[in-house]
Amino acid sequence: MASIRKLSKKTINQIAAGEVIERPASVVKELVENSLDAEASVIKIDIVNGGTKLIRVTDNGKGIEESDFELAFKKHTTSKITDIDDVYSLKTMGFRGEALASIASVSRLEAISRSETSSDSNGKRVHIKGGEQIFLENTPANKGTIIKVMDLFFNLPARKKHLKKIDTEKRHIITIITDLAIINPEVHFILTDNNREILNIPRSKDLKNNLFHILGSEVVRNLAEVKGLLRHSKVHGFIGLPNTSRATRSGQWFYVNGRPIKSNVIREAMEDSTKGLLMRNKYPIAVLSLDIDPNRIDVNIHPSKKEIRFETDEEIYALIFEAVNRGFEKHGLITDHNIIPKEHLSSTNLGKEEPKLKYPEIDSQFQTTLLTEVREPLILDKTIPLLNMEDFGKQLNFELYNYYKDNFHRHQLPFLIPLGQAHDLYIICKTQEGILLIDQHALHERIRLEEVKEEYRKRSVKTQELIIPLDLELKFEEAQVFDQWKHNLSGLGFEIEHFGEKTYRIRSIPASIDYRQVRELVKDIIDKLLQNKGNIDLEDMEDEILKMTACRTAIKAGEKLDRKGIINLLKKMYLANNPYLCAHGRPTMVKLSLDELEKRFKRKI
Ligand code: ADP
Ligand code: MG
Repeated sequence: MASIRKLSKKTINQIAAGEVIERPASVVKELVENSLDAEASVIKIDIVNGGTKLIRVTDNGKGIEESDFELAFKKHTTSKITDIDDVYSLKTMGFRGEALASIASVSRLEAISRSETSSDSNGKRVHIKGGEQIFLENTPANKGTIIKVMDLFFNLPARKKHLKKIDTEKRHIITIITDLAIINPEVHFILTDNNREILNIPRSKDLKNNLFHILGSEVVRNLAEVKGLLRHSKVHGFIGLPNTSRATRSGQWFYVNGRPIKSNVIREAMEDSTKGLLMRNKYPIAVLSLDIDPNRIDVNIHPSKKEIRFETDEEIYALIFEAVNRGFEKHGLITDHNIIPKEHLSSTNLGKEEPKLKYPEIDSQFQTTLLTEVREPLILDKTIPLLNMEDFGKQLNFELYNYYKDNFHRHQLPFLIPLGQAHDLYIICKTQEGILLIDQHALHERIRLEEVKEEYRKRSVKTQELIIPLDLELKFEEAQVFDQWKHNLSGLGFEIEHFGEKTYRIRSIPASIDYRQVRELVKDIIDKLLQNKGNIDLEDMEDEILKMTACRTAIKAGEKLDRKGIINLLKKMYLANNPYLCAHGRPTMVKLSLDELEKRFKRKI
């Protein structure tokens, strides 16, 4: 073994740099955070070859004071804290005072800065190579700072070899900039890659307007606002309504005191709160920004400050859970079935076990009052069928009640007493806590979707052969896309063959479909294919077709339902996996709580 020797300052710096500067995106993060700390309103980032060749960050912030200029690139120099107490009440992004020194020690760095306080139009310029200052001079400059980092890790070949493909490094950079851009609406961000602009996020007046540039108008139109306050913590942000949910968590951003962070507590609270409303394996889009008393968090536990520790996990959990819940509720999405009993809010239970909810027993007193009231049903609409109470009472007790009870643990649906149908569309029900309105089409569409998906999954789609085959005459471009696609329809229960030029013959159809609907359904499918120019993922298309099948075969709006029809629908509702949302992510039911009714009738303020 070689003898022990003291490492040179340069080597120590390079080792330390490795902890903070892992890849080009870490450089971008440190530089952009510095620009934000300098209160820049425009930050431009230029990269070449995923940042491995060049990273240049230009800002119009305060600039570096002339007298501080040299010092800023030395280790442990910062203008942001003076002693350890300051770290805990931090308002700025940076404070360690090591980023610039670290970056300079593992690259060729050039910096130009002119402070807002400088008396003439001159700033300073420095060139540092692998930690050694090459020159320092005065130079004419605009107010603000330009930091240019070239040939990252040129003197650390092992680290350089570990970098991923240029595209991967570029993706990391885009992620970092997006994370920071979302939470800083007042700042204009521009990113160019090899001279091509790839991000341009202009200044916005608030978070929501800013999200428009990042998530697009379609998503922004489908956001619920999240707002809440609990003791020392505050949350503000947005959560995507179920129809915007994604197959991954790529649409989730969490911030604490303006810093992008990762947090299992926040993620779990949000996902638990929306659980009953999303399909399995779907994740909500969310931007949640927390303000927490800085003395109650420790941002210092990770060198890149991504992971933070809260003093009280359960408080954060409860805050997020409730605020998200209320956000959804404002959009008519019933989420209070989700409310987790207080005993589950202790940190020891977090993320371990699903809370076991027991269905609330409806006491016999309550059942009788319900029944007597239903015996003289409310006349809400001429079209409401009067219920035959004798039969109904029996069914209610022995049947529907059992469906309710047996399935309560799955989605916490309340016990419903159907009162009737209004406008041939809405089913009006009484519950223990108020009144529930069901959109018969939306609910049945959901039920049908689950049924057809299950059949399809089991490859047990039953088909019916048409006695008289249906011929479809297609237009040229329709025939073109349809030709490539029709074989995919066989798994879904369609047997279709090409029958002369632009004519297609449908021989069999899924048993669940009324043959009178087939023509429309196939037209829908072709429309969808045309819309996407035939360029559509097989799985997406299957999903789409199942949704269309569900929609076309569900009880329609405008269809009269008799007592039996209503009871049948409600039974299936209790059996459904996700009865709260239709196939398109819209709510299937709307609740009016007694509380809300009292408020509306001004019985209570
Ligand atoms: P830290 O951000 O932790 O203080 P850095 O090494 O990142 O440490 O930066 C050192 C100092 O250089 C900062 O405290 C700040 O005073 C100054 N500085 C760095 N970048 C900029 C910038 N873009 N604009 C103004 N000042 C800057
Ligand atoms: Mg910094």
